[in-house]
Amino acid sequence: MKQKSAEILAIGTELLMGNTINTNAAYLARGLAQNGINVYHQEVVGDNPQRLMDSLTQAFTRSDIVITTGGLGPTYDDLSKETIASYFGRKLVMDEASLEHIKQHFATIGRVMTDNNRKQAMMPEGCTIFPNPNGTAPGCAIEKDGKVAFMLPGPPREMKPMFEHYVIPYLLKDSDTRLCSRMIRFFGIGESGLETKLHDLMVSSTNPTLAPYAKSGEVMLRITVRVGREEDPEPLFAPMIEKIEEAAGEFIYGIDIENLQTAAVNRLKETGKTAATAESCTGGYVSKRLTEVPGASEVFQCGVCTYSNEMKEQLLQVSHETLSQYGAVSSETAKEMAAGVRRLSKADIGVATTGIAGPQGGTEEKPVGLVYVAVDSENYSEVLELHIPSRGDDAREYIRYIASSHALHLIWKAAGAGKK
Ligand code: ATP
Repeated sequence: MKQKSAEILAIGTELLMGNTINTNAAYLARGLAQNGINVYHQEVVGDNPQRLMDSLTQAFTRSDIVITTGGLGPTYDDLSKETIASYFGRKLVMDEASLEHIKQHFATIGRVMTDNNRKQAMMPEGCTIFPNPNGTAPGCAIEKDGKVAFMLPGPPREMKPMFEHYVIPYLLKDSDTRLCSRMIRFFGIGESGLETKLHDLMVSSTNPTLAPYAKSGEVMLRITVRVGREEDPEPLFAPMIEKIEEAAGEFIYGIDIENLQTAAVNRLKETGKTAATAESCTGGYVSKRLTEVPGASEVFQCGVCTYSNEMKEQLLQVSHETLSQYGAVSSETAKEMAAGVRRLSKADIGVATTGIAGPQGGTEEKPVGLVYVAVDSENYSEVLELHIPSRGDDAREYIRYIASSHALHLIWKAAGAGKK
């Protein structure tokens, strides 16, 4: 069977002007790739019928599937539907079910439906309509001679569920296989380091395939298998996961888990332990990320942000001698902060950060990006000295974020100490 390929055509002058970032294209490209559909071209076109017609015509010379987003709105410049329908030689006709949905939507929000909203219920003759429970404009698929165009609304919160619930099943309806993925998450190793460890596995394996990618100090490895429609993918996943664990298991903190904070909170729950944070340079970032996880209250005792030396002494009992001898940014201070917050809160695990987030305040001896992160608990204590690269406009944010990731990872490690 010929491999399907698709193009993404984002419509909207605000995208061309740089006022809106084209996140829809990235989302759709990822979603299509996960489902085994290649994307070789993406394009942005303004709200201009002639240029849209040109783009569409060109896209269909290369691909059988074109997915558009945007331009389904009620206003005069939203002409995508008319243009795409005319490409397929179809008229727009009123879809009564969509009109009813739009009427109800306005009744629910207590606003008067204007005449131009009726336009959103005008759909190309013979198309497949995708309802939009999150907005007014329905989407649709229109097909002719093996070519199919999907028209999706612009707002991501309307577009994403429509893509997942209607477009993907539509595209896969004739396929006798499906793709399944699992995501392994690593911390403490870079993308190239991981690739080196997994190189042989990556080049020799075709089903599953392995795709690593790095983001904000972490590396993710997606394992994808192609199986029959009703086939269990697990027998293909399990031996591959075992081999990856053999090669790089010490860096894995979770499989199919959202992020480090979720891994830390889950592990605290599993082991019945509690944690507390004492933060200086991260200013509450660690506790913010921990409390993003629903149910964190079961395991998170408190977070104190001790920015000044006085507060480090008063609240955490960091000794005056330590601060004057080694300074606030030192492994000794970090260690005493972690022990101090553990004492203060009676949590099982105390974690602390102290460092220089910049852009000012660095010295030759203690440059910007130097951060100490400490953990203190009965079974596991450790202090890390980090040298986080300080590059670009958002260096301060990056340093604070990476430091908070290390703190979360140390909580995860300490919570698991004593486990197998
Ligand atoms: P509506 O029914 O709300 O009028 P629409 O289908 O006409 O939606 P547009 O008017 O093109 O869509 O865009 C509406 C909003 O959706 C934009 O202001 C923008 O916030 C968002 N949006 C549009 N296209 C994209 C895109 N490609 N990526 C991210 N956001 C987008």
